[in-house]
Amino acid sequence: MAYLRVAVDVPLPTLFDYRWDGRADAALGRLALVPFGRRQTIGVVLEVASKPAVAPERVKPALRLIEDIPPLSAEILDLLRFCSDYYHHPIGEVVHNALPQGLRAIRSSVRKQAAAFALAEAGEAALADGALRRAPALAALLERIANCQSVYLANLAAAERRHLKVLRDRGYVREWICPEAAREAPQSAVAPPPVLTQEQSAVLRAIAQSASGFRPWLLQGVTGSGKTEVYLRLVDSVLRGRGQVLLLVPEISLTPQLEERVRNRFPGHGIVMLHSGLSNEIRTRNWLAAQSGEAAIVLGTRSAVFVPMPQLQLIVVDEEHDASYKQLDAVRYCARDLAIWRARQRAIPVVLGSATPSLESFYAAQRGRYAVLRLTQRVTSHVHPRITLVPTTGERLIEGFAAALTRAIAERLRNDQQVLVFINRRGYSPVLYCSACTWTAGCPRCSARLVLHTTRPRLVCHHCGHAEAVAITCPQCGGLDLQPIGHGTQRIESALHRVFPQARLLRIDRDTTQGARHWPQMRRAIEDRQVDLLIGTQLLAKGHDFPALSLVCVLNADQSLYSTDFRASEQLFAQLMQVAGRAGRGEVPGDVLIQTAFPAHPLYQAVYAQSYEAFAQTLLSERRAAGFPPFVHQAMLRAESGKMAQTIAFLESAVRLGEGISEGVTIFDPAPAVMARLNGRERAQLLVQSSSRTRLHRFLDQWLTALRANAATSARWVIDVDPLEV
Ligand code: ADP
Ligand code: ZN
Ligand code: ZN
Repeated sequence: MAYLRVAVDVPLPTLFDYRWDGRADAALGRLALVPFGRRQTIGVVLEVASKPAVAPERVKPALRLIEDIPPLSAEILDLLRFCSDYYHHPIGEVVHNALPQGLRAIRSSVRKQAAAFALAEAGEAALADGALRRAPALAALLERIANCQSVYLANLAAAERRHLKVLRDRGYVREWICPEAAREAPQSAVAPPPVLTQEQSAVLRAIAQSASGFRPWLLQGVTGSGKTEVYLRLVDSVLRGRGQVLLLVPEISLTPQLEERVRNRFPGHGIVMLHSGLSNEIRTRNWLAAQSGEAAIVLGTRSAVFVPMPQLQLIVVDEEHDASYKQLDAVRYCARDLAIWRARQRAIPVVLGSATPSLESFYAAQRGRYAVLRLTQRVTSHVHPRITLVPTTGERLIEGFAAALTRAIAERLRNDQQVLVFINRRGYSPVLYCSACTWTAGCPRCSARLVLHTTRPRLVCHHCGHAEAVAITCPQCGGLDLQPIGHGTQRIESALHRVFPQARLLRIDRDTTQGARHWPQMRRAIEDRQVDLLIGTQLLAKGHDFPALSLVCVLNADQSLYSTDFRASEQLFAQLMQVAGRAGRGEVPGDVLIQTAFPAHPLYQAVYAQSYEAFAQTLLSERRAAGFPPFVHQAMLRAESGKMAQTIAFLESAVRLGEGISEGVTIFDPAPAVMARLNGRERAQLLVQSSSRTRLHRFLDQWLTALRANAATSARWVIDVDPLEV
């Protein structure tokens, strides 16, 4: 008799033991159906033990193992355990956060797809004891199925199908799921890959010549310098060696373009997407295709970092600086950091690409932990976009635009070029203001202002989703003069409509893309030149390649300068370089106009000079002097309750619990969160930090155990390791 130690989706930092009378060695890493309280649930077997951790009479039997899904490999179990340890998050939630939701409901969908086959236990035994010695064709096919973990009926010749039938009748193989994507027929003629630039060749040579094994590379390449082409060449060499590649991008909106490039370059290879825009069923199938080895390339967002890939040979993290790699709720992991851990564990290279690497990566490179590769030249136009800072002081803005911007837009439109107006704020205007008494519309549930939307007239809270009718009179003084203050994408859109009535406009923000669902059509429209003027938020700023786009106008960037977050300037710089990089990727050189009240600000000067390195160096010195990351390691205890006093009281008790054990760790005072009220909850936080990561984690282990034991907790709390938001 064995005991299965199962990760169940509950917020408790422990595994749950179940009795198991079946074969114990086959249970590790499997999904298991187990009783839990009054219900049944699906968990993952993380350990198999000969003795239970609790009194044996309290241990219930596991109901069954889910045989349709191959077990998670030891490697993935290690990754999950590491994620749970490092982020100090309950293992059950980590495991379930990492698996596609559909996996738990797999039985129904498995039945529908029965066109693929995998090795059954009897087949394994047959291979081991040579039962098929007399039938070499059967043995060869079985061997093949064993090697690639599964085989698709569609990929078999007629004779092989007959052999397969024999294998199935003998119980050597069993039916297996068929991921659609992997079956897709090869595309028509493949365009030959471009001739590499000298810089690209040098980069690839450096990687090819380095010793095999774990190696983190920081590919620092200006926008349009051909980083993606470098990834494709690396993918190519992995595919030649029959390996698998994991390509991570920060945003769903970036997947269609890369997917197209990857599919066109590698027709006939299994390529699957993994992101939240896919249905549960497709996502599950794609995940299974990666696990079976059938998908050679996985292209995904954050959570794809957990996908099992038995032949994984390379991980690419594109736009590695992007904050979207950090999950901001549930398990607060950073996919970039886990990707590096995973590469080390598998002893394979990992390539981090960015025009503006995160300071963490920049610093790691300086200390020699990452090897740096540089692409300094743009591929196509050979010129960087020209950046102009347009001062707004003393300027009369018309509809939010300085005259220089309107002129430049008119000129590009005349020359049949596309223009992007970038403003990182959706809605019509961020403030509705009473000029008589200075009242502004606020969210009843959050410490935030309501944003005026006009496409469907409403006041909306961008933090909790609260929406209400637009006030006609001031609720405070009854005044009638309510004014929208400031600009959002909708207001800019209507302004541009008035100024350029002939131009075809397209507004791209979360409201128009419906969480990226409409994005593929919109992207087509831009590529097919059905659009002249784009108005977009940061959705549009990242990685896209629109050759006809030659002018980018940036509005309202100044706002970030007022942020209290010490990462704000790093992020603003990255964002401006990103959005500037959208201009002039085709034949026509690009122009970028940034409207600002502070053209002399060091940040704008750095953007103007397009000098990432110098700016990063300055920021790094500032961080060193101030004792900020990456020079210290941080964790944030975030708490919330119905009342601020209660939240703070909880954090104060947490401070007291930490005092005796905090050697080498600084515990700061509790403070209300920047968004002190969210969704009716009052939030505060407590920062702890140390110059030693080991010390910090040792402290967290003890401290969080004490906090969990502290039953009288009246606040909900969560720990955020390496927090990105302050
Ligand atoms: P990045 O990822 O650095 O922004 P991309 O890889 O998207 O740059 O390259 C920008 C453009 O240049 C793309 O349209 C790409 O097809 C093209 N390109 C990349 N490398 C080459 C090359 N060696 N020769 C010609 N065109 C190239
Ligand atoms: Zn008023
Ligand atoms: Zn709100």
